[in-house]
Amino acid sequence: MKTKSRLLIIVTFMLLGLTAATIINISLNFRDYSIKSAVEKAQMASNIVKDGLTSHMVHGIMDKRQYFLNQISSNPDVEFLRLIRADSVVKQYGPGLNEETLRDAIDKEVMRTGEMVKSIKETSKAIKLRVTIPYKATVDNSESNCLNCHNVQKDEVLGAISMEFDISHMRNSGMMTILKILGINLLFIVIALILINYYVAPYMKLFSNLQTGVKMASLGDFTHKFSSKVGGDAKKVIDQMNSLFGKMQETFGDIKENLSTFVPQGCATSSNDPLYEANTIINELSDIYKFKKTIELDESKDMVYFRIIDILKLKYEIEDFTFYQINNVTQKRLLIHSCSDSICFDNVDHNAGECRAYRTKSDVISTEFVNLCQNCDPKGLEYVCIPFNINADSSLLISIKAKTPDEVNKITSSMASIKNYLEAAKPVIESRILMDKLRDTSLRDGMTGLYNRRFLEELIDKIMSQATRNDDTYHVMMLDVDFFKMVNDTYGHDIGDKVIVELAAILKNSIRSSDLAIRYGGEEFVIMLQNATKESAMKIAKKIHSQFGNTIFDVAPNESIQKTMSIGIAKFPTDGDTIWKCIKYADTALYEAKNTGRNKIVEFKPEMYQSGEDF
Ligand code: GH3
Ligand code: MG
Ligand code: MG
Repeated sequence: MKTKSRLLIIVTFMLLGLTAATIINISLNFRDYSIKSAVEKAQMASNIVKDGLTSHMVHGIMDKRQYFLNQISSNPDVEFLRLIRADSVVKQYGPGLNEETLRDAIDKEVMRTGEMVKSIKETSKAIKLRVTIPYKATVDNSESNCLNCHNVQKDEVLGAISMEFDISHMRNSGMMTILKILGINLLFIVIALILINYYVAPYMKLFSNLQTGVKMASLGDFTHKFSSKVGGDAKKVIDQMNSLFGKMQETFGDIKENLSTFVPQGCATSSNDPLYEANTIINELSDIYKFKKTIELDESKDMVYFRIIDILKLKYEIEDFTFYQINNVTQKRLLIHSCSDSICFDNVDHNAGECRAYRTKSDVISTEFVNLCQNCDPKGLEYVCIPFNINADSSLLISIKAKTPDEVNKITSSMASIKNYLEAAKPVIESRILMDKLRDTSLRDGMTGLYNRRFLEELIDKIMSQATRNDDTYHVMMLDVDFFKMVNDTYGHDIGDKVIVELAAILKNSIRSSDLAIRYGGEEFVIMLQNATKESAMKIAKKIHSQFGNTIFDVAPNESIQKTMSIGIAKFPTDGDTIWKCIKYADTALYEAKNTGRNKIVEFKPEMYQSGEDF
């Protein structure tokens, strides 16, 4: 039942109850009042009769008293009026007129007790009140001293007067009063209900409007617009609710949008509730953050792969899957982990292009089409294959087996989340692959152990794309020994090699593990200092410069030499937006150093380079 109807029913019952109580109270009081008023009338009549009879007696006209009594009883409310004589009076004066003797039990009781008796006879047609009042002998000094005429004792009952009144008209007027009160009250109830309905209805409407809005909000929908015709404080509440809901909607929209940038693949939530959704995304982000922090400290690519395998097994409860790494260049597929036999044909290992998921770069879900992948034998099972590209050289592939379509649905609902983990692992895997390559001896110079020029040519683009992603900066230095040819010419090639090896050792000891030292050419070196300040870069350059300058090379028995070097410096990305440009600019600065006297450090300035050559 609606609140408004309930309120109206309660008010109606309360007002009806009040009306009933008033009517009962009035009718009881009215009855009492009617009886009391009739008794007073009877007492008044009794006194008049007593005084009249005494007067008749004193004047010796007792025989004329019937006229007087008839006049008194001629009142239309008086049904009858009669006198009763006590035995003592009958004995002294005879039975009196119209047998003024005891007639019924009431008469006898009054004569015996000397007390007034009232009795009511009530029928549906009329109410009659009989009042019987005793006359007692009174003694005083006036003419009306009863003992003057009666041979009785003081206070002895001389007789009584018995009257009956019709008080039906009082009941009728009481009924009329009650009907009037009832009518007025009913009218009042109707007016009250109309007023309540008129004034309460808008509040009830507002209340149900609020209820609807709050219900929607509890399901995460804050689009409800509150409205009401009620003014005053209610209007303020409406405005505040609308503003609050507007903010909530906007905030949750922003939160959702912002969070979605952290989880680009989306997040599997079964609800449209933005609160629930935000909570799920934040939990996912938190898990992925912890995962990322963990794998960043893992040393090898294989360790990261083990973590991904654990996530698939423990978090997503995937029981049967195979995990591959694919070389995008050779198209060779390398098995990393397998829970059971692969469903793929053997040829896919040698030519990953045969794998539908890898080739189409899209998820392959067996329930979507019959015999979807032509290069596998699922043996009656369902399968879900997820390809994931790491970089131009490498990709990953997860091939999951499922026993039922329901299991497939469970896997596909987790797919976005799995890809978020792969996305988080991507830069770490990429950097571990790079590290593996860096360890490759073909990229190192045999004589000095430093990276060689091939390293620069093969890997610098990858290093730089990482640098751009991470906003890394590099100070690129080009170093060249001054008049080195002279060493070779004067002391021989071996001594020349010794100088080169010594210089390489100085370079290695002067840089951090995140920096790179490369033997660029004969006695020319490139150093790349990662995220160094201008001051610290210059400090390192000076340190290398002075350390090399102070090194004493024994070139022959009792003969030693000291050499100097020149250094050119350029900064990535402020001087040049690619590393090759910066190497070229560092070389330009080195050329400037050589041309202006050698044995110095020169920082690149744009005016030094005018060729406009493209890189
Ligand atoms: P500059 O001050 O202008 O640099 O004069 P420079 O004599 O050092 O001239 P340059 O840098 O052109 O000389 C490079 C010489 O380094 C030429 C080459 O014979 C020598 N060289 C190149 N590779 C090696 C090497 O592996 N071992 C030795 N001993 N010498 C090398
Ligand atoms: Mg030189
Ligand atoms: Mg040189």
